[in-house]
Amino acid sequence: MEKYLVIGDPIGHSRSPGMQNAAFESCGLGRPYGIRHVTLDELPEFFEYARKNLNGVNLTVPHKLLAAQLSDRLTGRAECCGSVNTLLIKDGIITGDSTDGIGLEEALKYCFDDEISGKNILFCGAGGAARATSVHLAGCGAKEVSFINRTLSKAVELSDLCKKVTPEVTSVCAVPEDENMCRTLLERADYLIQATSVGLKPDDPLPLPEKYFHKGLKLKIFDTIYHPTSIQRLAAELGILWANGKEMLIRQGAASFELWTGLKPDLAVMRRGFEEGTPGK
Ligand code: NAP
Repeated sequence: MEKYLVIGDPIGHSRSPGMQNAAFESCGLGRPYGIRHVTLDELPEFFEYARKNLNGVNLTVPHKLLAAQLSDRLTGRAECCGSVNTLLIKDGIITGDSTDGIGLEEALKYCFDDEISGKNILFCGAGGAARATSVHLAGCGAKEVSFINRTLSKAVELSDLCKKVTPEVTSVCAVPEDENMCRTLLERADYLIQATSVGLKPDDPLPLPEKYFHKGLKLKIFDTIYHPTSIQRLAAELGILWANGKEMLIRQGAASFELWTGLKPDLAVMRRGFEEGTPGK
């Protein structure tokens, strides 16, 4: 019986089952990890199911913020950012944790062989994933953590949160239509973190206007989405260094696995599980 699940809406694309089951199997723990489509309206009811039937859950779009409110307890890092991507269920008590921040930090270091400290980091997006990862990167010593988001109020909320948690960090916000500010932020950024859900569907457009990008940009692009997207194609065309979200998924998943089992999974095994896992299975 499945004792662990990944849930989201949409969820069919998820590679978490392949990756997590590979880790469980390599530790002699079978293949206990499944996948379920759960809408935001269904989340409270799902929590009651999980409380009685499951040991652990990973949550993706659009559940991370509501899950922080529904959890009985939060770990320090989840409380700090108000976002939850992992549930640990023990004796009917649901603890919410956030492993996205450590996942992105480790992925940036692995993909670009570089440190976070002193860097200017620009987020495109201000949802649950941006919330968890921006607060974490600000705490890793980033010089600037700024936000471009369709809904300005959400960007401002995250910017204020980063400055509250790490007073030394600088942070500004813009909407994608603010060409001057967006160009300024893109010119001085060391990393652009694509953290919107634009790109999850195959025919999705770019999350920012194409005219803002050019060959002279010194930034590196990290797209949190792990299948091909418009921004990955554009980065390749312009010769901008880029990486997709695969390594972040693996690292945040490894941190969830460790929380559930107390064991450090083999990352090579999880990478193979990611590649072999058929989306939606
Ligand atoms: P979320 O809370 O639903 O936030 C979605 C974000 O995308 C918001 O900033 C939203 O802007 C923006 N957005 C949505 N539709 C848009 C549109 N048509 N035009 C412009 N902006 C739009 O989702 P999330 O949990 O933060 O996830 C965001 C992304 O991160 C997803 O693609 C997810 O797959 C990825 N992710 C990857 C990993 C990994 O391990 N690789 C981990 C976590 C998340 P508004 O604020 O204006 O609504």
